Amino acid sequence: MTLSPTLTFNDGNTIPQLGYGVWQVEDDVAEKVVRQAFEAGFRHIDTAKIYGNEAGVGRAIASSGLSPEQIFITTKLWNSDQGYESTLSAFEESMDRLGLETLDLYLIHWMQPKQDKYIDTWKALIELQKRGRVKSIGVSNFTVEGLQRLIDETGVVPAIHQIELHPYFSQRELRDFGASKGILTQAWSPLGQGGELLEDGTVARIAAKHQVTPAQVVIAWHLAIGNVVIPKSVTESRIRENFAALDVALDAEDVDAINALDRTARGEGRIGADPAVSDFA
Ligand code: NAD
Repeated sequence: MTLSPTLTFNDGNTIPQLGYGVWQVEDDVAEKVVRQAFEAGFRHIDTAKIYGNEAGVGRAIASSGLSPEQIFITTKLWNSDQGYESTLSAFEESMDRLGLETLDLYLIHWMQPKQDKYIDTWKALIELQKRGRVKSIGVSNFTVEGLQRLIDETGVVPAIHQIELHPYFSQRELRDFGASKGILTQAWSPLGQGGELLEDGTVARIAAKHQVTPAQVVIAWHLAIGNVVIPKSVTESRIRENFAALDVALDAEDVDAINALDRTARGEGRIGADPAVSDFA
């Protein structure tokens, strides 16, 4: 079976470039759809404590017949657990739910600048990596300033930065900053949550040219520009379709046309919260 290509982190570990995300998937549904994702060829699963489905993901892993070496699991530390000691215990609770001994990737879910606990939280992730409980550590929803502060105050550069990123909001500044520091960029809501983007005329034209679907074009664009990408679907045919985007080869002209869809300069494009100001409970 074809598997996703991998990208290499600054710590030497690797991550499958195409993964499967499970935000807004009920725990009992997660078990079924993660199994379907494994069957389609996905080996990289993206969950989080706040999604409430780590246990369902864990059951899918346990019944998959796949060994820990064959899969790549990410989970995330929730905002209310930030702080050194609370991070260490929240991590153990996530691991119990997942049924894993070692985690591939642990992320701080949001920077939460107002709360201002992310440096201590990052130190706890560094400790978990030292203890061998987690192979790689990274962050999600940070700003350039927040990333720089992590590096300045601890000397440890995140392996990856998971951010909202899709053709309408292409995050040039954070991608360039990440590349300059050796931080991979991972795209959340890579399909723009399945809204207007999948009806876009440019995307439709490129899809027709390659005889593939709009979702496959968008996933292929992420892969072409070097993102790690984690589309979500709970529909088996779409799970397979999204994995098959690995076979879509866009040319430079296609990539340029999709790059031109970015709405950032118009002050538009973002769907989710802005990490610079977001302050979730
Ligand atoms: P997405 O961009 O992956 O869109 C998912 C939606 O697109 C589906 O619900 C469906 O409606 C549609 N879709 C999927 N495949 C399709 C296909 N082949 N054809 C037509 N429509 C299709 O949105 P997302 O779930 O927000 O993001 C993906 C993953 O990113 C999440 O599941 C989660 O793991 C992660 N995420 C992380 C954060 C964070 O703060 N770190 C935030 C949001 C999402």
